[in-house]
Amino acid sequence: MFLTISTTGSAGNPATDLGFLLHKHPGKAQRFSTSHGTAHVFYPEADERRCTVALLLEIDTLALVRRGKGKGRGGAPDAALAQYVNDRPYAASSLLAVALSGVFSSALRGVCTARPERAATALPLRIEVPALPARGGPELVRGLFEPLGWRVTADPVPLDAEFPQWGDSRYVHLVLEAETLTLAEALRHLYVLLPVLDDAKHYWVSADEVDKLLRAGEGWLAGHPEQKLITSRYLSRRWSLTRQAMERLELVRLAEADDSEVEEIDNAVGAETEEEERPTPLAVLRREAILAALRDSGAARVLDLGCGQGQLVQELLKDVRFTEIVGVDVSVRALTIASRRLKLDRMGERQASRVRLVQGSLAYTDNRLKGYDAAVLSEVIEHLDLPRLPALEYAVFGHARPRTVVVTTPNVEYNVRWETLPAGHVRHGDHRFEWTREEFRTWARTVAERHGYSVEFAPVGPDDPEVGPPTQMATFAMNTAATETGKEVKAA
Ligand code: SAH
Repeated sequence: MFLTISTTGSAGNPATDLGFLLHKHPGKAQRFSTSHGTAHVFYPEADERRCTVALLLEIDTLALVRRGKGKGRGGAPDAALAQYVNDRPYAASSLLAVALSGVFSSALRGVCTARPERAATALPLRIEVPALPARGGPELVRGLFEPLGWRVTADPVPLDAEFPQWGDSRYVHLVLEAETLTLAEALRHLYVLLPVLDDAKHYWVSADEVDKLLRAGEGWLAGHPEQKLITSRYLSRRWSLTRQAMERLELVRLAEADDSEVEEIDNAVGAETEEEERPTPLAVLRREAILAALRDSGAARVLDLGCGQGQLVQELLKDVRFTEIVGVDVSVRALTIASRRLKLDRMGERQASRVRLVQGSLAYTDNRLKGYDAAVLSEVIEHLDLPRLPALEYAVFGHARPRTVVVTTPNVEYNVRWETLPAGHVRHGDHRFEWTREEFRTWARTVAERHGYSVEFAPVGPDDPEVGPPTQMATFAMNTAATETGKEVKAA
């Protein structure tokens, strides 16, 4: 098994600092014996500008088989090891993960006495694994790494390059790139996710694996859209361990949410709310318009995507026709405030069973969001950088595919009517763009066409004859739903 990690340097931060961070000198090749063979660490390149470390694992096949045989005690022996001929020596990701944690143990914990500030800072990273066993294929590889901030290239490796008709093997050539992660985070992602993709462990999974998983998953696993798959596969599908881990992850999430900063945040977010909410009841008008559109659509199970502090969720709860309401936001802080607003912890069982708040990013596909009647994107799209918008578009209209989608966004033409808004300014510091009516309609029609929806537009707030309304709303209805379920006939 072979893996490389590369970084590039910048002024004052030579790339060779990677050696300090890994506690392995770039000038020499080193060998470490592991329980299953020998790990080699060496640097194919190391200068100020670029530095690459390679980890090569040579597996002692006999040791592997011997150990495999002797460990039937705690339960079933690993079927993959029952045979002498298998791919483990070449591809065992769990062996690589064990080697990673052994050879780079300090780096994995983010400890670096020589360069503590570098260890705590994100750096440009490129990781390459030429042959990674990936059960679930390139799509799952992306689903696991992208939510963590990696750009992922996962090319399937053909079974035999000379016989393309044989199709692809279960290996991918993986390249991960990011600038937003620390080395310790990167190593912890690999430590957990490589074996998860391999989906076969070379050892019997016992209860202390839960601790290992939670330690390595600190800061990223709670809230990962594939948290359940990761947990279950990492723990070799041992259900009792998986449940234990999931419960503990839930506690982590709650603890994160329940930090003492909340009061402060409450104020900060209060100050940050859309500026138009104070002088006019536009926010109220908007919620009324959205509720009306949802009622018209007949939706019962509703997603509020980018739910913020949960005002709409609160309104939805008041109407019993909405039987399941899920608020989704990327910001744990916003969700904390939402949870307090809704008094989730003091809610009766019946109410509580109707509502859920989940953390997630709309820039990534998320299977938890599939199968709903309707989704709302209220004043959310303008918070994404334009180049990220197609990702949200696909995640909502292409992947989650609710029957109805209600989108609201500011109408930039109306900004001249805001007395307090200096010319050329957007309404909120975090708005990445604001659209004219024409721009919004063009976008919405393109999205509808691409994903099989029809779309209608409505104004929210006073519809100025010249510049239109302050908020514009689009309601999308899926084209195929009626014909698929045959309801169209009845309705007609
Ligand atoms: N829907 C609410 C809040 C709008 S503010 C309302 O109408 O009042 C925009 C919200 O979108 C914020 O809470 C922000 O955290 C969230 N958001 C921004 N980008 C997101 C993303 N990529 N995924 C999920 N939520 C996001």
